[in-house]
Amino acid sequence: MSINSTSSNTKIKLENVLIIGNGGRENSLAWAIQKNELVKRIYLVPGNAGSERINKCERIRIDIKNLNDLDEKLFFLKINLVVIGPEVPLANGLADYLRKKNYKVFGPGKDGARLEYSKSWAKEFMKDANIPTAKFWTVNSLEEAKKIIHFSSTPLVVKVDGLASGKGVFIPDSKDECLTAAESIFDGKFGHSGDIVVLEEKIQGPEVSVFALCDGKRYVLLPTAQDHKRLNEKDKGPNTGGMGAYSPTPLLKKDCLDRIIKEIIEPTINELNKKNIDYKGVIYFGLMITKSGPKVIEYNCRFGDPECQTIMPLMDQDFVFLLEKCSMGNLTGNEKIAVQDKVSGCVIATSKGYPNDYKTGFPIKIGKIDSSNCQIFDSGTSLNKNGELLTDGGRVLSIVCQDKDFDMVFEKAYKNLKKINFDGIYYRNDIGHQVRKNFSKEN
Ligand code: AMP
Repeated sequence: MSINSTSSNTKIKLENVLIIGNGGRENSLAWAIQKNELVKRIYLVPGNAGSERINKCERIRIDIKNLNDLDEKLFFLKINLVVIGPEVPLANGLADYLRKKNYKVFGPGKDGARLEYSKSWAKEFMKDANIPTAKFWTVNSLEEAKKIIHFSSTPLVVKVDGLASGKGVFIPDSKDECLTAAESIFDGKFGHSGDIVVLEEKIQGPEVSVFALCDGKRYVLLPTAQDHKRLNEKDKGPNTGGMGAYSPTPLLKKDCLDRIIKEIIEPTINELNKKNIDYKGVIYFGLMITKSGPKVIEYNCRFGDPECQTIMPLMDQDFVFLLEKCSMGNLTGNEKIAVQDKVSGCVIATSKGYPNDYKTGFPIKIGKIDSSNCQIFDSGTSLNKNGELLTDGGRVLSIVCQDKDFDMVFEKAYKNLKKINFDGIYYRNDIGHQVRKNFSKEN
Protein backbone atom coordinates (compact mmCIF):
# COMPACT_ATOMS: atom_id res chain seq x y z
CA MET A 1 0.00 0.00 0.00
CA SER A 2 1.40 3.40 -0.80
CA ILE A 3 0.30 4.90 2.52
CA ASN A 4 3.80 4.58 3.84
CA SER A 5 4.47 7.94 5.44
CA THR A 6 5.09 6.34 8.84
CA SER A 7 5.52 9.71 10.52
CA SER A 8 1.98 10.74 9.70
CA ASN A 9 0.54 7.29 10.46
CA THR A 10 1.99 7.21 13.97
CA LYS A 11 -0.06 10.32 14.71
CA ILE A 12 -3.25 8.41 13.94
CA LYS A 13 -4.96 7.16 17.08
CA LEU A 14 -6.21 3.66 16.49
CA GLU A 15 -5.73 1.91 19.81
CA ASN A 16 -9.34 0.88 20.18
CA VAL A 17 -11.47 -0.16 17.23
CA LEU A 18 -15.09 -1.23 17.47
CA ILE A 19 -16.80 -3.37 14.82
CA ILE A 20 -20.57 -3.77 14.67
CA GLY A 21 -21.94 -7.06 13.34
CA ASN A 22 -21.99 -10.78 14.06
CA GLY A 23 -20.94 -12.62 10.91
CA GLY A 24 -17.94 -13.99 9.08
CA ARG A 25 -17.57 -10.59 7.44
CA GLU A 26 -16.97 -8.80 10.74
CA ASN A 27 -14.56 -11.50 11.97
CA SER A 28 -12.51 -11.19 8.81
CA LEU A 29 -12.43 -7.38 9.12
CA ALA A 30 -11.19 -7.80 12.70
CA TRP A 31 -8.55 -10.27 11.49
CA ALA A 32 -7.21 -7.75 8.95
CA ILE A 33 -7.39 -4.81 11.38
CA GLN A 34 -5.52 -6.60 14.20
CA LYS A 35 -2.43 -6.87 11.99
CA ASN A 36 -1.64 -3.21 12.61
CA GLU A 37 0.55 -2.60 15.65
CA LEU A 38 -1.19 0.69 16.49
CA VAL A 39 -4.35 -1.30 17.16
CA LYS A 40 -4.36 -2.64 20.72
CA ARG A 41 -7.93 -3.82 21.15
CA ILE A 42 -10.85 -4.65 18.85
CA TYR A 43 -14.36 -4.88 20.26
CA LEU A 44 -17.04 -6.73 18.32
CA VAL A 45 -20.67 -5.85 18.99
CA PRO A 46 -21.98 -8.53 19.31
CA GLY A 47 -19.55 -10.70 17.27
CA ASN A 48 -19.96 -14.48 17.50
CA ALA A 49 -18.26 -17.46 19.15
CA GLY A 50 -15.29 -17.20 16.77
CA SER A 51 -14.54 -13.54 17.44
CA GLU A 52 -12.46 -14.05 20.57
CA ARG A 53 -10.21 -16.58 18.81
CA ILE A 54 -8.92 -13.60 16.82
CA ASN A 55 -5.92 -11.77 18.25
CA LYS A 56 -6.80 -8.62 20.28
CA CYS A 57 -10.56 -9.24 19.97
CA GLU A 58 -13.24 -9.06 22.61
CA ARG A 59 -17.02 -9.32 22.34
CA ILE A 60 -19.42 -6.84 23.88
CA ARG A 61 -23.07 -7.65 24.26
CA ILE A 62 -25.02 -4.42 24.12
CA ASP A 63 -28.13 -3.48 22.26
CA ILE A 64 -27.03 -1.11 19.50
CA LYS A 65 -30.58 0.23 19.28
CA ASN A 66 -30.10 1.65 22.75
CA LEU A 67 -28.11 4.63 21.50
CA ASN A 68 -27.38 6.17 24.90
CA ASP A 69 -25.96 2.88 26.12
CA LEU A 70 -23.86 2.53 22.99
CA ASP A 71 -22.56 6.07 23.28
CA GLU A 72 -21.61 5.58 26.95
CA LYS A 73 -19.83 2.32 26.17
CA LEU A 74 -17.88 3.83 23.26
CA PHE A 75 -16.84 6.74 25.43
CA PHE A 76 -15.81 4.44 28.29
CA LEU A 77 -13.76 2.22 25.94
CA LYS A 78 -12.12 5.28 24.30
CA ILE A 79 -13.06 4.03 20.83
CA ASN A 80 -10.99 5.63 18.05
CA LEU A 81 -12.74 4.11 15.05
CA VAL A 82 -16.13 2.45 14.53
CA VAL A 83 -16.65 0.09 11.58
CA ILE A 84 -20.29 -0.78 10.84
CA GLY A 85 -20.63 -4.14 9.04
CA PRO A 86 -24.30 -4.89 8.26
CA GLU A 87 -26.84 -2.92 6.23
CA VAL A 88 -29.65 -2.64 8.80
CA PRO A 89 -27.89 -0.32 11.31
CA LEU A 90 -26.58 1.73 8.36
CA ALA A 91 -30.10 2.06 6.94
CA ASN A 92 -31.30 3.08 10.41
CA GLY A 93 -28.82 5.96 10.53
CA LEU A 94 -26.40 4.62 13.14
CA ALA A 95 -23.40 6.18 11.36
CA ASP A 96 -25.13 9.60 11.39
CA TYR A 97 -25.77 9.34 15.14
CA LEU A 98 -22.20 8.33 15.96
CA ARG A 99 -20.71 11.03 13.72
CA LYS A 100 -22.80 13.62 15.52
CA LYS A 101 -21.19 12.35 18.71
CA ASN A 102 -17.80 12.97 17.05
CA TYR A 103 -16.76 9.36 16.52
CA LYS A 104 -14.81 8.42 13.45
CA VAL A 105 -17.07 6.03 11.56
CA PHE A 106 -16.48 3.81 8.55
CA GLY A 107 -19.94 3.31 7.04
CA PRO A 108 -22.30 5.62 5.14
CA GLY A 109 -25.08 7.66 6.69
CA LYS A 110 -28.72 6.88 6.08
CA ASP A 111 -28.73 8.92 2.86
CA GLY A 112 -25.88 6.87 1.34
CA ALA A 113 -27.25 3.54 2.61
CA ARG A 114 -30.29 4.23 0.46
CA LEU A 115 -28.28 2.85 -2.46
CA GLU A 116 -29.00 -0.52 -0.84
CA TYR A 117 -32.22 -0.12 1.13
CA SER A 118 -34.27 1.23 -1.76
CA LYS A 119 -33.79 -0.53 -5.07
CA SER A 120 -36.17 1.90 -6.82
CA TRP A 121 -34.14 4.86 -5.53
CA ALA A 122 -30.90 3.20 -6.65
CA LYS A 123 -32.35 2.64 -10.12
CA GLU A 124 -33.42 6.31 -10.41
CA PHE A 125 -29.95 7.27 -9.16
CA MET A 126 -28.37 5.24 -11.96
CA LYS A 127 -30.75 6.75 -14.49
CA ASP A 128 -29.82 10.27 -13.33
CA ALA A 129 -26.12 9.48 -13.71
CA ASN A 130 -26.45 7.52 -16.94
CA ILE A 131 -24.94 4.42 -15.33
CA PRO A 132 -25.53 1.20 -17.32
CA THR A 133 -28.10 -1.08 -15.65
CA ALA A 134 -31.03 -3.30 -16.66
CA LYS A 135 -34.20 -1.49 -17.90
CA PHE A 136 -36.74 -1.16 -15.09
CA TRP A 137 -40.24 -0.17 -14.04
CA THR A 138 -41.20 0.85 -10.52
CA VAL A 139 -44.72 -0.10 -9.43
CA ASN A 140 -46.82 0.61 -6.32
CA SER A 141 -49.64 -1.89 -6.78
CA LEU A 142 -50.37 -5.34 -8.14
CA GLU A 143 -52.57 -3.82 -10.88
CA GLU A 144 -49.67 -1.74 -12.19
CA ALA A 145 -47.35 -4.77 -11.97
CA LYS A 146 -49.80 -6.92 -13.92
CA LYS A 147 -50.00 -4.40 -16.76
CA ILE A 148 -46.22 -4.24 -17.19
CA ILE A 149 -45.72 -8.00 -16.86
CA HIS A 150 -48.50 -8.54 -19.41
CA PHE A 151 -47.05 -6.16 -22.02
CA SER A 152 -43.44 -7.31 -21.65
CA SER A 153 -42.25 -9.73 -24.34
CA THR A 154 -40.07 -11.67 -21.82
CA PRO A 155 -40.49 -12.65 -18.13
CA LEU A 156 -39.22 -9.83 -15.92
CA VAL A 157 -37.10 -10.03 -12.78
CA VAL A 158 -39.21 -9.05 -9.76
CA LYS A 159 -37.56 -7.22 -6.84
CA VAL A 160 -38.74 -6.07 -3.45
CA ASP A 161 -37.77 -2.41 -3.06
CA GLY A 162 -36.55 -2.53 0.55
CA LEU A 163 -34.21 -4.74 2.58
CA ALA A 164 -35.14 -8.42 2.47
CA SER A 165 -32.03 -10.30 3.73
CA GLY A 166 -31.13 -11.31 0.18
CA LYS A 167 -34.50 -13.02 -0.35
CA GLY A 168 -36.36 -10.28 -2.21
CA VAL A 169 -35.31 -11.05 -5.79
CA PHE A 170 -37.27 -13.43 -8.04
CA ILE A 171 -36.00 -14.57 -11.42
CA PRO A 172 -39.03 -16.13 -13.09
CA ASP A 173 -38.96 -18.24 -16.24
CA SER A 174 -42.53 -17.41 -17.23
CA LYS A 175 -45.03 -14.55 -16.96
CA ASP A 176 -47.11 -16.69 -14.59
CA GLU A 177 -44.16 -17.00 -12.24
CA CYS A 178 -43.67 -13.20 -12.48
CA LEU A 179 -47.27 -12.66 -11.45
CA THR A 180 -47.02 -15.13 -8.58
CA ALA A 181 -43.91 -13.32 -7.29
CA ALA A 182 -45.56 -9.89 -7.56
CA GLU A 183 -48.70 -11.21 -5.84
CA SER A 184 -46.75 -12.64 -2.92
CA ILE A 185 -44.92 -9.33 -2.42
CA PHE A 186 -48.06 -7.17 -2.58
CA ASP A 187 -49.74 -9.71 -0.26
CA GLY A 188 -47.31 -8.54 2.39
CA LYS A 189 -44.74 -11.37 2.44
CA PHE A 190 -41.98 -8.80 2.96
CA GLY A 191 -43.89 -6.30 5.07
CA HIS A 192 -43.27 -2.63 4.19
CA SER A 193 -40.10 -3.57 2.27
CA GLY A 194 -42.50 -4.76 -0.44
CA ASP A 195 -44.69 -1.65 -0.65
CA ILE A 196 -42.85 -0.83 -3.87
CA VAL A 197 -41.72 -3.39 -6.44
CA VAL A 198 -39.09 -3.01 -9.13
CA LEU A 199 -39.57 -4.98 -12.33
CA GLU A 200 -36.44 -5.44 -14.39
CA GLU A 201 -35.41 -6.69 -17.77
CA LYS A 202 -33.50 -9.98 -17.33
CA ILE A 203 -29.89 -9.54 -18.38
CA GLN A 204 -27.18 -12.15 -18.81
CA GLY A 205 -23.48 -12.62 -18.22
CA PRO A 206 -20.99 -13.54 -15.52
CA GLU A 207 -21.26 -11.60 -12.24
CA VAL A 208 -18.40 -9.89 -10.44
CA SER A 209 -18.10 -7.92 -7.22
CA VAL A 210 -16.13 -4.68 -7.04
CA PHE A 211 -15.54 -2.79 -3.79
CA ALA A 212 -14.65 0.89 -3.54
CA LEU A 213 -13.57 2.33 -0.20
CA CYS A 214 -14.86 5.85 -0.35
CA ASP A 215 -14.08 8.97 1.71
CA GLY A 216 -16.89 11.13 0.34
CA LYS A 217 -14.89 12.46 -2.59
CA ARG A 218 -12.19 9.97 -3.47
CA TYR A 219 -12.01 6.18 -3.51
CA VAL A 220 -9.66 3.24 -3.62
CA LEU A 221 -10.51 -0.16 -5.09
CA LEU A 222 -10.06 -3.49 -3.30
CA PRO A 223 -9.19 -6.64 -5.27
CA THR A 224 -12.14 -7.86 -7.32
CA ALA A 225 -14.04 -11.03 -6.41
CA GLN A 226 -16.59 -13.50 -7.69
CA ASP A 227 -19.00 -15.34 -5.45
CA HIS A 228 -21.29 -18.34 -5.82
CA LYS A 229 -24.83 -17.46 -4.80
CA ARG A 230 -26.60 -20.73 -5.67
CA LEU A 231 -26.88 -23.51 -3.10
CA ASN A 232 -25.90 -26.44 -5.30
CA GLU A 233 -23.00 -27.46 -7.49
CA LYS A 234 -22.95 -26.33 -11.13
CA ASP A 235 -24.48 -23.06 -9.79
CA LYS A 236 -27.94 -24.62 -9.49
CA GLY A 237 -30.62 -24.44 -6.81
CA PRO A 238 -31.95 -21.53 -4.75
CA ASN A 239 -30.09 -18.28 -4.15
CA THR A 240 -28.26 -18.06 -0.81
CA GLY A 241 -26.27 -15.37 0.98
CA GLY A 242 -23.21 -16.89 -0.73
CA MET A 243 -21.66 -20.39 -0.70
CA GLY A 244 -18.10 -19.36 -1.50
CA ALA A 245 -15.98 -16.87 -3.38
CA TYR A 246 -12.56 -16.23 -4.87
CA SER A 247 -10.38 -13.20 -5.43
CA PRO A 248 -9.12 -11.64 -7.59
CA THR A 249 -11.23 -12.57 -10.56
CA PRO A 250 -9.21 -13.20 -13.74
CA LEU A 251 -12.34 -12.36 -15.71
CA LEU A 252 -11.82 -8.64 -15.17
CA LYS A 253 -8.94 -7.77 -17.45
CA LYS A 254 -7.57 -4.24 -17.36
CA ASP A 255 -9.73 -3.03 -20.26
CA CYS A 256 -12.92 -4.15 -18.61
CA LEU A 257 -11.95 -2.76 -15.22
CA ASP A 258 -11.07 0.58 -16.83
CA ARG A 259 -14.49 0.62 -18.42
CA ILE A 260 -16.15 -0.17 -15.08
CA ILE A 261 -14.26 2.69 -13.45
CA LYS A 262 -15.18 5.15 -16.19
CA GLU A 263 -18.80 4.13 -16.77
CA ILE A 264 -19.86 3.01 -13.30
CA ILE A 265 -17.58 3.80 -10.35
CA GLU A 266 -16.68 7.41 -11.08
CA PRO A 267 -20.21 8.38 -12.20
CA THR A 268 -21.52 6.82 -8.95
CA ILE A 269 -19.19 8.89 -6.77
CA ASN A 270 -19.92 12.03 -8.81
CA GLU A 271 -23.66 11.49 -8.53
CA LEU A 272 -23.39 11.01 -4.75
CA ASN A 273 -21.60 14.35 -4.60
CA LYS A 274 -24.18 15.98 -6.84
CA LYS A 275 -26.86 14.77 -4.45
CA ASN A 276 -24.86 16.11 -1.46
CA ILE A 277 -24.34 12.64 -0.03
CA ASP A 278 -21.09 12.45 1.91
CA TYR A 279 -20.47 8.71 1.53
CA LYS A 280 -17.76 7.47 3.90
CA GLY A 281 -17.67 3.71 3.66
CA VAL A 282 -17.55 0.90 1.17
CA ILE A 283 -19.67 0.79 -1.97
CA TYR A 284 -20.24 -2.72 -3.26
CA PHE A 285 -20.93 -2.86 -6.97
CA GLY A 286 -22.65 -6.11 -7.97
CA LEU A 287 -22.03 -6.18 -11.72
CA MET A 288 -22.96 -8.32 -14.67
CA ILE A 289 -20.60 -8.38 -17.63
CA THR A 290 -23.09 -8.51 -20.49
CA LYS A 291 -22.36 -8.69 -24.22
CA SER A 292 -22.92 -4.94 -24.41
CA GLY A 293 -20.64 -4.21 -21.46
CA PRO A 294 -20.70 -4.12 -17.65
CA LYS A 295 -24.01 -3.28 -15.98
CA VAL A 296 -24.94 -2.70 -12.35
CA ILE A 297 -27.18 -5.39 -10.86
CA GLU A 298 -27.18 -3.86 -7.40
CA TYR A 299 -25.36 -1.60 -4.97
CA ASN A 300 -24.70 -2.59 -1.37
CA CYS A 301 -23.58 -0.15 1.30
CA ARG A 302 -21.38 -2.75 3.05
CA PHE A 303 -18.80 -5.43 2.35
CA GLY A 304 -20.21 -8.55 0.69
CA ASP A 305 -20.17 -11.81 2.60
CA PRO A 306 -18.30 -14.12 1.72
CA GLU A 307 -16.27 -11.80 -0.52
CA CYS A 308 -15.04 -9.91 2.54
CA GLN A 309 -13.69 -13.08 4.21
CA THR A 310 -11.96 -13.89 0.89
CA ILE A 311 -10.36 -10.48 0.34
CA MET A 312 -9.34 -9.53 3.91
CA PRO A 313 -6.50 -12.08 4.23
CA LEU A 314 -4.87 -10.43 1.19
CA MET A 315 -4.67 -7.05 2.97
CA ASP A 316 -1.50 -5.93 4.72
CA GLN A 317 -1.24 -4.14 8.08
CA ASP A 318 -2.07 -0.77 6.51
CA PHE A 319 -5.65 -1.76 5.71
CA VAL A 320 -6.98 -0.10 8.85
CA PHE A 321 -5.39 3.19 7.75
CA LEU A 322 -7.59 3.12 4.68
CA LEU A 323 -10.70 2.73 6.81
CA GLU A 324 -9.55 5.56 9.05
CA LYS A 325 -8.76 7.82 6.10
CA CYS A 326 -12.19 7.14 4.60
CA SER A 327 -13.86 7.99 7.91
CA MET A 328 -11.96 11.30 7.99
CA GLY A 329 -12.39 12.22 4.30
CA ASN A 330 -8.60 11.99 3.97
CA LEU A 331 -7.90 9.67 1.06
CA THR A 332 -5.48 11.09 -1.48
CA GLY A 333 -7.07 8.99 -4.21
CA ASN A 334 -3.60 7.70 -5.13
CA GLU A 335 -3.46 4.88 -2.60
CA LYS A 336 -2.53 1.59 -4.21
CA ILE A 337 -3.43 -1.44 -2.21
CA ALA A 338 -0.31 -3.60 -2.21
CA VAL A 339 -2.02 -6.89 -1.55
CA GLN A 340 -0.10 -10.08 -0.98
CA ASP A 341 1.12 -11.71 -4.15
CA LYS A 342 -1.39 -14.52 -3.73
CA VAL A 343 -4.91 -15.47 -4.65
CA SER A 344 -7.59 -16.32 -2.13
CA GLY A 345 -10.62 -18.60 -1.99
CA CYS A 346 -13.39 -19.23 0.50
CA VAL A 347 -15.80 -22.15 0.98
CA ILE A 348 -18.83 -21.79 3.25
CA ALA A 349 -20.00 -24.71 5.39
CA THR A 350 -23.74 -24.49 6.03
CA SER A 351 -26.39 -26.17 8.16
CA LYS A 352 -28.57 -28.81 6.46
CA GLY A 353 -31.71 -27.13 5.11
CA TYR A 354 -30.20 -23.66 4.57
CA PRO A 355 -31.34 -21.26 3.00
CA ASN A 356 -34.75 -22.49 4.20
CA ASP A 357 -35.42 -24.04 7.61
CA TYR A 358 -32.49 -25.52 9.50
CA LYS A 359 -31.70 -26.62 13.03
CA THR A 360 -28.93 -25.18 15.19
CA GLY A 361 -27.07 -26.22 18.32
CA PHE A 362 -24.98 -29.06 16.87
CA PRO A 363 -21.43 -29.43 18.26
CA ILE A 364 -18.69 -28.47 15.77
CA LYS A 365 -15.56 -30.64 15.76
CA ILE A 366 -12.46 -29.13 14.18
CA GLY A 367 -9.54 -31.57 13.75
CA LYS A 368 -5.93 -30.73 12.99
CA ILE A 369 -6.08 -28.33 10.10
CA ASP A 370 -3.27 -26.88 7.99
CA SER A 371 -3.37 -23.31 9.26
CA SER A 372 -0.60 -21.80 7.11
CA ASN A 373 -2.30 -19.21 4.95
CA CYS A 374 -5.63 -20.60 5.97
CA GLN A 375 -8.25 -19.03 8.24
CA ILE A 376 -11.52 -20.28 9.65
CA PHE A 377 -13.90 -17.37 10.23
CA ASP A 378 -17.03 -18.24 12.19
CA SER A 379 -20.18 -17.06 10.44
CA GLY A 380 -22.93 -18.50 12.65
CA THR A 381 -21.65 -20.14 15.84
CA SER A 382 -22.17 -19.94 19.60
CA LEU A 383 -20.66 -21.53 22.70
CA ASN A 384 -22.59 -23.65 25.18
CA LYS A 385 -22.00 -23.36 28.92
CA ASN A 386 -19.17 -25.92 28.72
CA GLY A 387 -17.41 -23.77 26.13
CA GLU A 388 -18.16 -26.14 23.25
CA LEU A 389 -18.56 -24.62 19.79
CA LEU A 390 -22.05 -25.07 18.34
CA THR A 391 -23.75 -24.30 15.05
CA ASP A 392 -25.89 -21.18 15.35
CA GLY A 393 -26.87 -20.10 11.84
CA GLY A 394 -27.53 -21.15 8.27
CA ARG A 395 -24.02 -20.30 7.22
CA VAL A 396 -21.76 -21.70 9.94
CA LEU A 397 -18.07 -21.42 8.98
CA SER A 398 -16.02 -19.72 6.25
CA ILE A 399 -12.89 -21.68 5.33
CA VAL A 400 -10.47 -19.35 3.55
CA CYS A 401 -7.04 -20.15 2.02
CA GLN A 402 -4.43 -18.25 0.07
CA ASP A 403 -1.76 -19.60 -2.24
CA LYS A 404 0.01 -19.05 -5.56
CA ASP A 405 -2.86 -20.35 -7.66
CA PHE A 406 -6.51 -21.28 -7.24
CA ASP A 407 -5.86 -25.04 -7.57
CA MET A 408 -3.59 -24.90 -4.54
CA VAL A 409 -6.03 -22.64 -2.67
CA PHE A 410 -9.02 -24.92 -3.06
CA GLU A 411 -7.02 -28.14 -2.56
CA LYS A 412 -6.04 -26.84 0.87
CA ALA A 413 -9.51 -25.48 1.67
CA TYR A 414 -11.20 -28.80 0.89
CA LYS A 415 -8.52 -30.80 2.73
CA ASN A 416 -9.20 -28.67 5.79
CA LEU A 417 -12.96 -28.99 5.38
CA LYS A 418 -12.62 -32.78 5.63
CA LYS A 419 -11.27 -32.23 9.17
CA ILE A 420 -14.35 -30.24 10.18
CA ASN A 421 -17.58 -31.87 11.14
CA PHE A 422 -21.02 -31.13 12.54
CA ASP A 423 -24.39 -32.80 12.13
CA GLY A 424 -25.78 -31.89 8.70
CA ILE A 425 -22.66 -30.08 7.40
CA TYR A 426 -23.06 -29.12 3.75
CA TYR A 427 -20.74 -27.36 1.32
CA ARG A 428 -20.26 -27.16 -2.40
CA ASN A 429 -17.23 -28.98 -3.79
CA ASP A 430 -17.00 -26.84 -6.91
CA ILE A 431 -16.36 -23.36 -5.50
CA GLY A 432 -14.05 -21.51 -7.89
CA HIS A 433 -14.63 -24.08 -10.66
CA GLN A 434 -14.12 -21.34 -13.25
CA VAL A 435 -10.54 -20.72 -12.08
CA ARG A 436 -9.45 -24.22 -11.00
CA LYS A 437 -7.51 -25.73 -13.91
CA ASN A 438 -7.43 -29.18 -12.27
CA PHE A 439 -11.16 -29.00 -11.63
CA SER A 440 -12.00 -28.49 -15.30
CA LYS A 441 -9.68 -31.39 -16.24
CA GLU A 442 -11.30 -33.74 -13.72
CA ASN A 443 -14.91 -32.77 -14.50
P1 AMP B 1 -29.70 -8.60 -6.23
O1 AMP B 1 -30.12 -8.88 -4.80
O2 AMP B 1 -30.36 -7.45 -6.87
O3 AMP B 1 -28.20 -8.63 -6.39
O4 AMP B 1 -30.10 -9.92 -7.03
C1 AMP B 1 -29.69 -11.23 -6.65
C2 AMP B 1 -29.26 -11.99 -7.86
O5 AMP B 1 -30.32 -12.04 -8.80
C3 AMP B 1 -28.09 -11.37 -8.63
O6 AMP B 1 -26.87 -11.72 -8.10
C4 AMP B 1 -28.32 -11.90 -10.01
O7 AMP B 1 -27.79 -13.23 -10.11
C5 AMP B 1 -29.80 -11.99 -10.13
N1 AMP B 1 -30.35 -10.80 -10.81
C6 AMP B 1 -30.73 -9.63 -10.23
N2 AMP B 1 -31.17 -8.75 -11.15
C7 AMP B 1 -31.09 -9.37 -12.34
C8 AMP B 1 -31.40 -8.99 -13.68
N3 AMP B 1 -31.89 -7.80 -13.97
N4 AMP B 1 -31.17 -9.90 -14.66
C9 AMP B 1 -30.69 -11.13 -14.38
N5 AMP B 1 -30.38 -11.55 -13.15
C10 AMP B 1 -30.57 -10.69 -12.13
